[in-house]
Amino acid sequence: MKRVYLDCAATTPTHPEVVKAMLPYFTEAFGNPSSIYSYGQEAKGAIEEARVKVADLIGARDEEIVFTSGGTEADNFALMGVAFANESRGNHIITSSIEHHAVMETCEFLETRGLRITYLPVDEYGLVNPDDVKRAITDKTILISIMHANNEMGTIEPITEIGKVAREAGVYFHTDAVQTVGHIPVDVNELGIDLLSMSAHKLCGPKGVGALYVRKGTKLTPFMHGGEQERRRRASTENVPGIVGFGKAVELAQQEMGGEVERLTCLRDNLIKGLLERIDHIHLNGHPLKKLPNNVNVSVDYVEGESMVLNLDLEGICASTGSACSSSSLEPSHVLLAMGLPPEQAHCSLRFTLGKWTTEEEIERVLDILPRIVAKLRAMSPLLKSRK
Ligand code: PLP
Repeated sequence: MKRVYLDCAATTPTHPEVVKAMLPYFTEAFGNPSSIYSYGQEAKGAIEEARVKVADLIGARDEEIVFTSGGTEADNFALMGVAFANESRGNHIITSSIEHHAVMETCEFLETRGLRITYLPVDEYGLVNPDDVKRAITDKTILISIMHANNEMGTIEPITEIGKVAREAGVYFHTDAVQTVGHIPVDVNELGIDLLSMSAHKLCGPKGVGALYVRKGTKLTPFMHGGEQERRRRASTENVPGIVGFGKAVELAQQEMGGEVERLTCLRDNLIKGLLERIDHIHLNGHPLKKLPNNVNVSVDYVEGESMVLNLDLEGICASTGSACSSSSLEPSHVLLAMGLPPEQAHCSLRFTLGKWTTEEEIERVLDILPRIVAKLRAMSPLLKSRK
């Protein structure tokens, strides 16, 4: 059975061109970039080439890119780095109640170290109101951290407006753009961003590598100590193959973005339309328009999300109930709860995230199979029986 992979917000397959670009850096070009002889300098050159590509994709300067081990480290680095470097200015951070755990749990950790965190609410579509951000700012606020697009239901936040609020107040602005970089246009100057997190494995690059954009002049305490790599901002021997792969993935994403946005939006809308037509008591989660081109998140009343995922898997279709990082937890999604969904509806969520290799036939297969799965599960559902 040919499998259908529709969980690209969790991770993407690595592009064959990316693998090809990485391979020499495991073998003949294995040098340590800190070595001054040619093996080292060759590896260093490859890193700097990748840095230029990543910077170019988001309208940054290459010296503003710090490579990390992924999106989680970039988020941790941004929040803790600003908090520790700006202690004398204040101790207040503003974030939203729908952030990825990498931001949420870093905020919770910082609370144990005496920082005050405001978790802003969102509306029914998962949108943060820029006026709420403005109202939450105090003379102790050092950082605003609001994600660019949510990983669970794909809502794209009003980042330009929030960037303006941050700029007017003289407060640093961080955005977790792990789900947007390489997928939709991101320009740090247009969006008014000081710090931005990215991850390679969400855009057909390798796992375990990402970057933090740090606007020149931003005060940030290094997160890792023990070496002079990354202009002393992140110690440790660089992940050369990973960084090269990230650069290649970025290059491919940049070339293909325009066409992909259009193609995926069309497939996404067909999937949404088909699901709403073929399944009753189903609700679209997230904003219908301000939404990532590859994200479909629905709640299917009276059916547990996990049961749908497992039954789809038996049919060779990979989907998820929400964030991959929390899929082992039986708690309903904090994102859907923050949007005001009752827990029983949050438990019934199902997410499809499309990618570069998703085809029309695959969408048709989901539209053929899911209604049958839902009918079967509803026939056995204690949730539905208790309503009768
Ligand atoms: N932020 C968001 C919005 C994500 O979706 C993810 C991954 O799912 C991360 C951060 C963490 O990225 P990584 O897996 O590279 O650590």
